[in-house]
Amino acid sequence: MGPARELLALATSLRSGLRGRRELEAFSTLAETLTRSTDSAAVARTLLDSLLTTFGFGRGVVLAGPEGQLSLLADVGLDAQAQRRPGGSAVSPAVRLAQASGRPLTVVALDPEREPWLTRLLPATSGLVVVPLQDDARHLGAVVLQLRAGHRLPRRTEAALGRSASYAALTLRNVWAFEQLQRLAATDGLTKIANRRTFEATLEREVARAARQQEPLSLVLLDLDHFKRLNDEHGHQAGDDVLRNVAAALSCACRDFDTAARYGGEEFAVVLPGCEPVEALLIADRLREAVAAAPGVVPVTASAGVATYPVHGRDAAALVRAADEALYASKAQGRNRTTGPIGGTEVEGTDEVLRRRLRDRLNLDSPPAEETAPRPEPARSRDR
Ligand code: GH3
Ligand code: MG
Ligand code: MG
Repeated sequence: MGPARELLALATSLRSGLRGRRELEAFSTLAETLTRSTDSAAVARTLLDSLLTTFGFGRGVVLAGPEGQLSLLADVGLDAQAQRRPGGSAVSPAVRLAQASGRPLTVVALDPEREPWLTRLLPATSGLVVVPLQDDARHLGAVVLQLRAGHRLPRRTEAALGRSASYAALTLRNVWAFEQLQRLAATDGLTKIANRRTFEATLEREVARAARQQEPLSLVLLDLDHFKRLNDEHGHQAGDDVLRNVAAALSCACRDFDTAARYGGEEFAVVLPGCEPVEALLIADRLREAVAAAPGVVPVTASAGVATYPVHGRDAAALVRAADEALYASKAQGRNRTTGPIGGTEVEGTDEVLRRRLRDRLNLDSPPAEETAPRPEPARSRDR
């Protein structure tokens, strides 16, 4: 070998040694960052950023889901107008092919007919590298990267890409398991809506926000009427079905930023950020109407108690106390009604126009039905 060729060989090996070191450093930074990531979107974004900067790709996406279904977890460099939702089924033959081979796959030509979503995300039919995300034999999705114009993927890079993707896949699976646990801990097992713990945390958080922003916040407590009788007459299973349907009806009747929770046995709580006292009374009636319309072995009614921050309580505990007292008054006055610390639904002194406007907005066309004959005072048997 002449000196010129020797020099060239040395330069090549030095360069590849340097590149190897850079990749190793990037991998260790990636691993370190991933150990600190606690949500799947952050894991996906960290992986994508690392692959783009270390290997010089132009842009890319992470398509993955806990059951292997593809949803867009992270993207870098997409056009502003790129359609981020599949708009059809999120399948990708290229991803499937890469998963089957277990290695990064360079896509020579992407068929827009068979890959409508991927083509919309990365509108280049070639120059794509699909790196499968798999943990053991489980397919979680893939990272799809776009090569810069005129670039090819060096063979050695394939292995390094695969290593980073495998490490990220392991982290993703752990994070998803953690997210699933968090969801389970936050939800009521029977009704699948927020549980009491989540309700309490939400109320604390929303009261703090309301104080910061100097806005009102209302709380509605609802208790199903004569639910013990329903259980006794139709069985516990039928009672459970009613609870599930009532919870679903309450969730549907809420606005996106409200929180409906199961407070206890047959009691529900709804947190209404930004809601004034009169509006809260009307919303409580709408919630009770939703309960009465919920499917079940027999229709059920609910009694409600309403309280508003800051007028009826300046912290979460005081608000719950005020709403609970109002609910007790609803029960005492014959059930199937709404009461606030300022009285029943027909609030004295409330401007008629405001009431009509609220009713129109909430689609309440008639005042709530009330039991004609008041029932005897209920036993105060609400388990706290
Ligand atoms: P009131 O109108 O005064 O509220 O009468 P009530 O019968 O609803 O009140 P009470 O508190 O005496 O009874 C509540 C009942 O709710 C008793 C309990 O068996 C039933 N319950 C509580 N949790 C569940 C549950 O998870 N499933 C079923 N099926 N019933 C439940
Ligand atoms: Mg009850
Ligand atoms: Mg009760």
